[in-house]
Amino acid sequence: MGAAEVISFEEVRARKQWSTLRQQLHARFDQWVDTLEQAWHELPATLSEVTATVWAWRQQLTGGITETIVAQAHAGERQRQQASCPRCARVLKVQEHVGRTVETMVGPVELERPSFYCRSCRVGLYPCDDALGLVAGRKQLDVQHATAQLVTEVPYDTAQALFGDLTGIHCGSERMHTLTTHVAEGLTVLEVAPSRSEIERRIAAVSRGRLRRPVLVLGIDGAYVPTRPESARQACAGQRRTRAKRAQWRGQWRDAKGFRFYLLDGERIVHVLSGHQVQNEEHLGEALQQIKKAGLIPEEQVRLCVVCDGAEWIWKHVQALFPQARQVLDDYHCAQYLHRVAKAQYGASVQALEWVEATMTRLYLGKVGVVLGGLRRMQAQSDEAEQAIANCWDYLHEHRGRTAYQKLRRGGYPLGSGGIESSNKFICHGRLKRSGAWWYEVNSNQMLALRCAKYNGTLDQVFVRYQQRLRETSE
Ligand SMILES: [Zn+2]
Repeated sequence: MGAAEVISFEEVRARKQWSTLRQQLHARFDQWVDTLEQAWHELPATLSEVTATVWAWRQQLTGGITETIVAQAHAGERQRQQASCPRCARVLKVQEHVGRTVETMVGPVELERPSFYCRSCRVGLYPCDDALGLVAGRKQLDVQHATAQLVTEVPYDTAQALFGDLTGIHCGSERMHTLTTHVAEGLTVLEVAPSRSEIERRIAAVSRGRLRRPVLVLGIDGAYVPTRPESARQACAGQRRTRAKRAQWRGQWRDAKGFRFYLLDGERIVHVLSGHQVQNEEHLGEALQQIKKAGLIPEEQVRLCVVCDGAEWIWKHVQALFPQARQVLDDYHCAQYLHRVAKAQYGASVQALEWVEATMTRLYLGKVGVVLGGLRRMQAQSDEAEQAIANCWDYLHEHRGRTAYQKLRRGGYPLGSGGIESSNKFICHGRLKRSGAWWYEVNSNQMLALRCAKYNGTLDQVFVRYQQRLRETSE
């Protein structure tokens, strides 16, 4: 016999394990075919008749297969006679075997596992559950992950209905809400942000085959979202027996302030990182500072550019954190100021439009000094016009270094803040602005954090954190 034909003991054991598993899985499948036989008697004719039945019984099959594999993989764990107490390290003897059913995306899985108990520490123990990575409660992580993906897109009631229809698994909307709260609790901007290496990967993909470093845009803006006051919670307490009354609280539109980093790849936008929360300017500044401090943005690999409207607080943060960034005043916002002057000065006339166009062209060519001088010399036709001219002068003077649009365009920089506005739309409005929905601030911010994670590509990472937290609280 040649050396190559010598089979190790481990290999023999592994093969034996596989052949046992194969037999057991075949037996499972046979059981399932029995179910089909009982359901049909005669074989159905149409495809939809077949799929309807297979669909109805599929979880019994896939859950059963999972159960069989788990039982085989943890055969040793299931026969375990002893375990040591996690507190006092005393050796414990097996007490009894306890059944448990958990729900997974592939169906219910029944488990029989040994239990241990330390009398002195009063600690119960299921080593098999730990080995399997089970979480408390019936619904396991894959189900939780799927529901989290759904509720970040659609309202809770719709999510419940869709989830039931598409997976065959019932998960109540209240349950989904609680789960969302647990997953999103205390999420920070860094926890929903992609890592530096992931951001570098996205930059490298855009840079490929180009001589110049790509433009990385930072947009900052606010979006109004519908909120309700905390006091609305108390209104229901102790009134269970009374008839539903008109809400005592008033909804409030509040500013969700957000930022978005994105790469420009020709006409295409490559998303990098969004952070939106119902928060004040100071908190937004802190969030940006955390991003900066953590070194997430490889500034030397890109040409960083900030495009915003005129809000002073935005530029203050930008100047402090990214002083090297190219600054752009949103051209649409800028044109609005000019329109205000033109309307007050020339009314709704062709002359008004011509003046705006000519002035925008001068700004475009980098002649902001000429425009400022022109505004100074303008003979105001009314008090309103005088005010509009003065406001416009202040505004352009404040932003005079940010309007050389032609030069900016040649450099490949964006002239408008469309990137952050669309982020407002797909992150904030898409989920929070629904008819009749008024959000508690804490809930709206948790939802926003999850939606940012989803678009930043970090929802899996958020789930790993959630899993770690579950483990820590159970210990
Ligand atoms: Zn003990």
